[in-house]
Amino acid sequence: MIKERESKSGFHFYTLYQSCPRRFYFKYLLKWMTDKIHPALLYGQAIHHAHADFYKNSIDIINEFIVQLNIRRELYEDRTVFMKDLDRGQSMLDTWMVKWGIDWQEREELICVEEEFMVKIGEFNFTGRWDGVFKDKKTGRKFIREIKTTSYSVMGSYYNLFYSDQPTAYLYAWNELHPHEKIDEVQPDILYNKGRVFKPERPPNIRRSSLELEEFKLGMLGIITEITQKVKSLENFKSIQLFPRRGNCDGDGFYTCPYRGICRTNIDINYVPFGFHKEEKA
Ligand code: SF4
Repeated sequence: MIKERESKSGFHFYTLYQSCPRRFYFKYLLKWMTDKIHPALLYGQAIHHAHADFYKNSIDIINEFIVQLNIRRELYEDRTVFMKDLDRGQSMLDTWMVKWGIDWQEREELICVEEEFMVKIGEFNFTGRWDGVFKDKKTGRKFIREIKTTSYSVMGSYYNLFYSDQPTAYLYAWNELHPHEKIDEVQPDILYNKGRVFKPERPPNIRRSSLELEEFKLGMLGIITEITQKVKSLENFKSIQLFPRRGNCDGDGFYTCPYRGICRTNIDINYVPFGFHKEEKA
């Protein structure tokens, strides 16, 4: 069984509701999960797993990637995509090792890797997982590292992270759980690959002030209150009224959304649609 990396009630729970209430409704309230897993997710999982074992157990990162991707082999629908990911992942990690991996212990101390967290925000359990937390040996400062894989652009991926609440959420959770060793920065570790171009980059760290963290908490409380009230109103109103579709869903969001096939149909919540299953623990 492949463990899903995405937390059940974390950063994605928060942002999915903001980006499309309808999608949130399908995923978190009906708990309808697509049977297919996107290859990009499988590839990203294998990369993250390999990093974690490399830092934690000094395991050969490339071998571990091969093992991890092979565990996911049957989930690939297209064998050529699997072979392509297997090849590009090895080249990517080889380039990454030369640039950042070989001497990492001279620069950094590992605090934790792939560690799950749970923080209470009101009555809500906010959960997630840090890719890694490290201490810079020169400055003594701790930071959270966030690994991203992209074939779009390094800076595009960086700005997506910069302008999202993902770094805010991770810093908020760390500081709540470790009030005496606060952290204020997230280091992006971006693994870019397009064709035969492999570029691991670490653009500037992303900082968040204590005010931004407090605002994040208030935003979460507001959204949780709003969702709770809507859930209570589901008895009297149609779900489409309370959890409407995103107004302009015609771009990339539509093509990557697993619910696009059922989004404009008249659903019956008692029947899980073809191609989905109900995940009781979601
Ligand atoms: S297809 Fe678009 S509008 Fe429909 S659920 Fe997905 S993101 Fe929302």
